[in-house]
Amino acid sequence: MDLSVVIPIYNEEDNIVALYTRLREVIDPMALRYELLFVNDGSLDRSLALIQELAVRDERVRYIDFSRNFGHQIAVTAGLDLSAGDAVVIIDADLQDPPELIVPLYQKLHQGYEVVYAKRRSRQGESAAKKFTAKLFYRILAKITNISIPVDTGDFRIISRKVVDALKLMPEQSKFIRGQISWIGYRQTYVEYDRAERAGGETGYTYSKMIRLALDGITAFSDAPLKAATISGFIVSGVAFAVLIYTLYARFVTGEYEPGWPSLMTSILFLGGVQLIAVGIIGEYISRLSANVRQRPLYIISDTNITRKEPHSTQELR
Ligand code: UDP
Ligand code: MG
Repeated sequence: MDLSVVIPIYNEEDNIVALYTRLREVIDPMALRYELLFVNDGSLDRSLALIQELAVRDERVRYIDFSRNFGHQIAVTAGLDLSAGDAVVIIDADLQDPPELIVPLYQKLHQGYEVVYAKRRSRQGESAAKKFTAKLFYRILAKITNISIPVDTGDFRIISRKVVDALKLMPEQSKFIRGQISWIGYRQTYVEYDRAERAGGETGYTYSKMIRLALDGITAFSDAPLKAATISGFIVSGVAFAVLIYTLYARFVTGEYEPGWPSLMTSILFLGGVQLIAVGIIGEYISRLSANVRQRPLYIISDTNITRKEPHSTQELR
């Protein structure tokens, strides 16, 4: 199998047939062995029935049907897990990601890259609020994470089998696939495109789903919010110390002070600072705990000339 196309589906009855037609128009001339892998993420409309109809007529249409709505990132993960292609395209079902871009994505991949993502040059038909929050989020995320997650990029991209296999080694619960793919490394590049309007239906991404995605992205790839607690703790403690010096000076040198005020100020600031530092310390432990709980591999090897299959197998020891 040369190519798998993974398509998460949540209430996309208006788009499925159009998407299928356009995908075939694009991929058929490429003369590849391919599959179209639809992941039905608990749709409440006729999406599943439409996919099943397609599957009857075209054996390259495969589908996974979830028992309920698990969310976009999980749907994509399931598609990747069951995909068979040497290269895998992740694409939205609503035709906002133009299928025609699969051709340049595929070509670029074969120029020696493992990941080619599609970068949005512009976005059409999306509310100013959505564009603004998306722009802000991508930039904040780029600032505070220690890996470089490309800005203005969704999950529309092509990845090689190597990257799919690496993703399978990352069984974390809160998925942020574009972050994981950045974390994995390898040679990555992009092609630019203009993001179209949603063809039909409505967005399945409610604000609460977007906020959850944002929090998953931040907490999985950054300790910045925790560090903020520690740093503000030290700053507040510093202020407390300065006020302490000042009150001692006022009390014993100039003698200009309101009774009770110096001790009150100092103790409030001091306690606040101590608490924030304590929260920060606990946070440091929690961040290490959560890193272990995520069970990410420590490293991903790109190439080696060691061919041993099981370097430390019990067989050898015996
Ligand atoms: N989607 C999904 N599960 C969800 C929400 C969305 O599988 O809970 C799918 C949806 O069918 C589409 C893709 O994820 O193929 C992107 O969703 P959408 O277009 O609604 O997001 P937007 O483009 O508005 O950010
Ligand atoms: Mg969309």
